[in-house]
Amino acid sequence: MTPDRRVDFLLIGGGLAAGNCARWLREEGAEGSILLVGRELDPPYNRPPCSKGYLGGGDSREDTLFRPDGWWGEQGIELLTRTSVTKLDPGERIATLSTKETVGFEQALIATGANVRRLRVDGGQLEGIHYLRTLGNADAIRADVAEAEHVAVVGGSYIASEVAATLTAQGRRCTMLMLETVVHERGFGALAGAFFQRILEEHGVEVHAEQELARFEGDGDRVQRVVTASGLEIEADAVVMGTGSVPDVMLAKGAGLELGASGGVRCDSRLRTSAPGVFAAGDMCEYDSVVHGERVRIEHWDVAFQHGRTVALNMLGRDQPHDTVPYFFSDLADWASMEYVGPASSWDEEVVRGDLDGGDFVVWYLKDGRVAAALAVDRRDDLEHGRRLIADAVDVGERRSELGDPGSDLGDLTG
Ligand SMILES: Cc1cc2nc3c(=O)[nH]c(=O)nc-3n(C[C@H](O)[C@H](O)[C@H](O)COP(=O)(O)OP(=O)(O)OC[C@H]3O[C@@H](n4cnc5c(N)ncnc54)[C@H](O)[C@@H]3O)c2cc1C
Repeated sequence: MTPDRRVDFLLIGGGLAAGNCARWLREEGAEGSILLVGRELDPPYNRPPCSKGYLGGGDSREDTLFRPDGWWGEQGIELLTRTSVTKLDPGERIATLSTKETVGFEQALIATGANVRRLRVDGGQLEGIHYLRTLGNADAIRADVAEAEHVAVVGGSYIASEVAATLTAQGRRCTMLMLETVVHERGFGALAGAFFQRILEEHGVEVHAEQELARFEGDGDRVQRVVTASGLEIEADAVVMGTGSVPDVMLAKGAGLELGASGGVRCDSRLRTSAPGVFAAGDMCEYDSVVHGERVRIEHWDVAFQHGRTVALNMLGRDQPHDTVPYFFSDLADWASMEYVGPASSWDEEVVRGDLDGGDFVVWYLKDGRVAAALAVDRRDDLEHGRRLIADAVDVGERRSELGDPGSDLGDLTG
């Protein structure tokens, strides 16, 4: 089959991974044609403000954009928004778009991100129940809660915590319910979780731990109540679901790309998929991490960003392993911020440096005598040491008490 046209680089998915790949292709001197195809209304933008500044009204739509509208044309990058790639044939190297146009490519990036994980429970179709992934979802929540007195937030991880904080700061009364015993427990453990939960509660967020969502109840079409398996009933004018996400691999599966254990697209350390000439990046990419020594899939903003760069370099033949230590951040309104390097899927021990109650601390997560991750509140310098300890896989076994001693010089450990 002869495609309608050909490009050198086809970037599929209008998120940060694809956007940053386009940028680095040009920064590294790519002269060929670049086509970026994304199905959303907006050009690539940063999602983190969707639960923070944009949801709260402090950030504008323009503030969230990866690059201003004019930049794409200036760079000679063709940007097709509101357009999906409906079929990918890696053998023929041809993609079919929702416009029916067929595009031949030399190399492609598939970076289709993730979708929210929807919980199937009775009443789940009622009005006033929201999931949050896009700017449009944030618009809908903002409009819907404007008159709401009481908002229920389901989930105990960072998106649920951020939404509860943002809406509380806007004057809404928020109640969280979650499976965990404290917020953030799954990602960051109970020690740090207890700190962030205290911050939420001090600002008026009511948190119900160890509660499994059973159903929603409503009056007519609209949600009025959240009911848990243990019988707890929470009255709510609106509900926001922060119940996780799943990699969007529909296109990849159809293309026959190999998937990994997490359900993401299986990649090597260069972010190459099982199909020659096709790379993957971001939330849907499960890659052999040289940092972790195992295959990982990480849904963090900075990972998508850094993946985009690694793919660009490899498309240009640089043979670049993805060796950046993943970084994550989260804000609870302007009450507290965390920064984190890792991530650790499991750990043997948590060591605290600094003042956990006072909000000036690092939690080190140790696994087999090495730092697997570090979470910092108001201690950026320590986090940088953490990054080096992880990157260099420093054995801190004998000297791990130094990690917890605020008087010690962490530079001695990192050399
Ligand atoms: C509300 C929210 C808050 C967040 N806050 C933080 C934070 O504070 N810190 C942090 O580190 N991370 C945060 N994240 C996570 C971070 O935003 C993601 O890890 C990052 O956006 C992933 O980028 P991506 O490019 O892989 O995927 P996405 O941003 O999901 O982009 C993929 C794009 O591909 C499009 N697409 C899918 N299929 C097709 C197709 N067939 N054709 C064309 N286009 C397609 C999708 O519509 C989407 O626009 C947050 C995420 C959300 C939702």
